[in-house]
Amino acid sequence: MRKKGNGLNSGIEDRYRPNKKNRMVFRILLPLIALVLIGIVVMLERNGIQLEGFTPGVVQDYTYTEPVEDDIRCLLLVDHAQSAGKVITEQMTNVLQSMKVNYDVFEAGEFSFAQQLDSYDHLIISFPDWEVLGDSVRDIIYWVRDGGSLMNTITPEPGPTLHMISQQLGVEGGFNEFAGISGVRVLDHRMVGSTSKPLYELIADPAEKMDISLKAQISEACEVYLSSEDGAVPLLWHVPYGEGHIVVTNMAMGDKYMRGFLSLAYSLMEEATLYPVINSSVYYLDDFPSPVPEGDGEFIRRDYGIDIASFYSNVWWATILNWEEKYGIRHTGVIIEDYNDLVNGPFPKNESTSQFKAFGNMLLNNRGELGYHGYNHMPLILQGKDDEKRIGSYVMWPSVEEMESSLKELSRFSHTVFPNTEFAVYVPPSNIFSETGREALKEAVPEIRAIASFYVTHANAHGQATEYEQEFGVAEDGIIEMPRIVYGTYINEYDSLMAMSELNFHFVQSHFFHPDDTLDVDRYADQGWAKMSEWFESYLDWITTDAAAIREQTASEMANAVQIYDHISLKRSSDESSVSADLGGFTGEAWFLLRMRDREPGETVGCSLEQVANGLYLVCATQEHIEIRYR
Ligand SMILES: [Zn+2]
Repeated sequence: MRKKGNGLNSGIEDRYRPNKKNRMVFRILLPLIALVLIGIVVMLERNGIQLEGFTPGVVQDYTYTEPVEDDIRCLLLVDHAQSAGKVITEQMTNVLQSMKVNYDVFEAGEFSFAQQLDSYDHLIISFPDWEVLGDSVRDIIYWVRDGGSLMNTITPEPGPTLHMISQQLGVEGGFNEFAGISGVRVLDHRMVGSTSKPLYELIADPAEKMDISLKAQISEACEVYLSSEDGAVPLLWHVPYGEGHIVVTNMAMGDKYMRGFLSLAYSLMEEATLYPVINSSVYYLDDFPSPVPEGDGEFIRRDYGIDIASFYSNVWWATILNWEEKYGIRHTGVIIEDYNDLVNGPFPKNESTSQFKAFGNMLLNNRGELGYHGYNHMPLILQGKDDEKRIGSYVMWPSVEEMESSLKELSRFSHTVFPNTEFAVYVPPSNIFSETGREALKEAVPEIRAIASFYVTHANAHGQATEYEQEFGVAEDGIIEMPRIVYGTYINEYDSLMAMSELNFHFVQSHFFHPDDTLDVDRYADQGWAKMSEWFESYLDWITTDAAAIREQTASEMANAVQIYDHISLKRSSDESSVSADLGGFTGEAWFLLRMRDREPGETVGCSLEQVANGLYLVCATQEHIEIRYR
């Protein structure tokens, strides 16, 4: 069955996500992470390494220069009567804020185009039915002809107004009926990640199409960046008109992964566009270290003939170390002290610390980092207040005092086992969290500076998201928010799309999995560890090849990068020969992506630059004024 046009959130997730069903529930049923001493040879090799110049877990307190404001003025045009535009407008708003764009929002019906449009450089139309523009569409086209830049965020609906200006949009034929597409193809390596993987499927069965784009024959003046899976339908293109520029979006998707495409579209409105990014890649091991499991796992016994404990130390951990060496990645482990379900103190101390020490120190000595996950695996949600967030057999906390008391025990335990280590990052158990939990955390363990939960949450059977969804940034209470984007050993097409989008939008990668994935059928345990690690290696291959310039970091290093990204502001300018920016909220170093439409970079001032995709460059600013001259 076909999905109707402009079907935002068109069920893409639902078709992919059952593969990872119930993974949260199983966190508590199978809390079996093996940390045993059998891998003694590996451990002796790793433990003696002397580290220089690296202190894990230290989050900086920076001083920032005064913020600056951009001269470029952008108008985001909305129409609240059109519900299809609402979701995409939320994504576009986030994109503009993240790119530090100076923008105003106006209702289309209340905006006086003839009088007001001239005070803007960029115009974004963020609704599908352009009929609301009426004759004003002529004013828009004249404004573009005289040097304005126009883009839209969602497939326009066929109609007389669209028809009137379709030629200016670069359309020579069609644009009056929907075309079914099943995937997005990035053309000519224009986005990070697209060199090894240009095609991203939108639905599990490619034979099934979604009517979210218009059929269009476009002129030779158009530069196409995205097309349908088979190249038949252009999905995003740039076309000059007069002195100005038009970027046409011909797809209707509302998920967070649209941000990568929206930032691409926005960046094409100027000859060259600079926007701040995080530049950080982090890999988490959840529930690591945590208590040693006993006994057998069905598929481990089947494939390796050994018990869980032996498997984890001799096979699983060896694979982790191999990945660190082969791909240059570093791990951040988050500690669980005990797998009891106590929510009333006193909280018994876990006296069996040898495996914690062994595995935790190996991770630290490989330039990794440790953070907090919980005294036990009960999410910090309060009985009587957060009941809708409860899943599985989790027990809720009776009071904030008991939460705090358990966190203090976790802190005591962690500092005793790892005496010279800082713990700056908290990962909520099962990514479930609450305002009460946040207060308990800040009160009991003020050393925690950052929280790492989910970038995209998943609705439960009642249609509610139980997990804590975050955006990258610094919250009002000073906590650094740094969500994890993808998880598990099998990265499906939906997750690949999300990961690719974030590489292009924030230049960031964040992944987690659990040692006990190998015990849970819902996390593909029945496929065996060999297959699971093969899947994950293809993800690691993709990231480390296509985003080779990204910094491999630990969680606290990412926390620092997020702070710098959050505070930076730009005053952009450009002329015939160069693009430049004055930076505000600057600490001495900041990272940007630079999209260049037709030109190539030459000499630089105050920054260095590295190509990361066709027409896209990673810029490291070391001075408050940066300039990139065209070759
Ligand atoms: Zn966990």
